Formats: sequence, structure tokens, C-alpha cells
Amino acid sequence: MGVVTNGCKLGCCTAEVAALPRGGWDDAGSNIDGRRREHLRREWAATSARIDRMQGDYPKCKLCGQPAVRLDAAGLCSKVTDSHKTQRVRLGLPPVPAPAPGARGRGGRR
Ligand SMILES: [Zn+2]
Ligand SMILES: [Zn+2]
Repeated sequence: MGVVTNGCKLGCCTAEVAALPRGGWDDAGSNIDGRRREHLRREWAATSARIDRMQGDYPKCKLCGQPAVRLDAAGLCSKVTDSHKTQRVRLGLPPVPAPAPGARGRGGRR
């Protein structure tokens, strides 16, 4: 040994802390060792950054730039603001995109 390496790949835990059983969680899995909290925070930050990158890959609404999993025929997101409606009508589309079959009742907008 000799060289003390960082205990975890995120660089926040000592080898001793990283080697805690169950990653520092207690038997019930409801409490984590205080020294692991920074690790949890970093892990979460890394996860959110990954999600951000994924969303960055989504096509963006031509009107508001909102990344959307799927754009409608007008190249817009699913928003139904006046500007979105106007843009759809301009392209000869219904102002509000028809909801996907089975998506009824979501959002409660009538
Ligand atoms: Zn760590
Ligand atoms: Zn939009």
C-alpha cells in the first residue's frame, strides 16, 4: 500500500469511509453515516447533470426552445400558450395538438 488513494471515485470519502458496510447506511437503510452525506450529494449532483445532458439531446421547441421528448407536427412542444396555438394555426394545424390515445385525464386541462 503506502499511497493513500481516495476512497471513492467522487473524491469525497476517505478509504475508511468508502469501505463502510452498505456504503454507510444503517441496517434499516434509513440513516447514513454523516461522513457519507457529501458523497450522496455529489452522487445526486452527478445524476442531475446526466439528466440535464439527456434533456439537452431532446429536440427543442421552435417557439420557446423547451426541450421536449417529442415535438408535434409544427415542431413545437406540447404547450398550449397563445403563441404556440398561433404558430400551429399558421401552419394549418389544430391549435391544440390532439392528445395521444390513452393520455386522457392527464393535467386536467379541459
Ligand atoms: Zn464519496
Ligand atoms: Zn414550446
